[in-house]
Amino acid sequence: MKEFQLPGVGLKCGACSATLPSVTRTFKTEGFVTRERICPACGKVNTTSERVINSRELRRYCSQPCE
Ligand SMILES: [Zn+2]
Repeated sequence: MKEFQLPGVGLKCGACSATLPSVTRTFKTEGFVTRERICPACGKVNTTSERVINSRELRRYCSQPCE
């Protein structure tokens, strides 16, 4: 169930299931944000995409630890 909480919290590596750190890079495309996280254990680049609804995007960024 936790997988459907805040995006980016508690995500696991698709290759080795290590817990991923915070977002390394964020790409914006039309209507979507792709977040990139690099696994500290195996180096795999894990990406997730989510829809962006106008300015709510900014709130989401700040609801997570900003590093
Ligand atoms: Zn990994």
